[in-house]
Amino acid sequence: MTRECGVCGNERVVVTPADDALSATPCVCQRPCSQCGDVGFTFARDEQGYERAVPCACREVEKRARMLTEANLPVRYARARLDTFETREPWQGAALSLAYGFAREFEAGVRGLLFYGRSGTGKTHLSASIIRYLVVQRGIRARFIEFKHLISDLRETFSGPTSSSSLTTPLVLVPLLVIDELGKGARREWEQDVLDELVSRRYNAKRTTLFTTNYQVGAGARAPGEESLEERVGTRIYSRLAEMCRAHPMNGDDQRRATDGRPLQRG
Ligand SMILES: [Zn+2]
Ligand SMILES: [Zn+2]
Repeated sequence: MTRECGVCGNERVVVTPADDALSATPCVCQRPCSQCGDVGFTFARDEQGYERAVPCACREVEKRARMLTEANLPVRYARARLDTFETREPWQGAALSLAYGFAREFEAGVRGLLFYGRSGTGKTHLSASIIRYLVVQRGIRARFIEFKHLISDLRETFSGPTSSSSLTTPLVLVPLLVIDELGKGARREWEQDVLDELVSRRYNAKRTTLFTTNYQVGAGARAPGEESLEERVGTRIYSRLAEMCRAHPMNGDDQRRATDGRPLQRG
């Protein structure tokens, strides 16, 4: 049993703010490497008895730290981890066990998730924690993007000389993409087309997408005049989401009315 590192809690990496995203590096407890003394490789005998240099396990920690930086997690979620998610209410416990199950069993092309509910219920926290678990614990690439940034990135592409396909390729191919705050911001006509293109291409490429949204799924619990997610993103994208994702309500009220018929399969 190794002692717990007071800096990283044995996660092996630490995150620091860099501009508006988190940057990750191997923790001080990983240095110097007890296996290779930081040269990055060790020697092992092969079948013929020759000593050969093999990459040291510490290289993997460096690689995962780089991948975590590339995941583009927002600075305000520096402490977001599945093992620090607060579960004071039963619905929080249910959301956390869903997230743990998803992160532990994740493999390419599994069904995604759609966390919906009012702001401040931990949807983004949980999604960022899932990314962190996948990248650091399992070495699986994942990426976070806010919906409004996605839309402004895509708009630049549409008005520029390159085609939409060239810019969106990394977003299409990453095994898990989190799109945060789906539907937020002013709605423009072309938004639905580019979003539909991205979502369809990920679906066809057997890539998993996780969404969060403040808009309600299904009928009920809406203030007069408040749009539903389906009204917000349009029926075409909404039905695609229903195929791709399992919807999970992120508040107690919704949890209690989770029995009525919903177009999206509920968590
Ligand atoms: Zn450490
Ligand atoms: Zn090493």
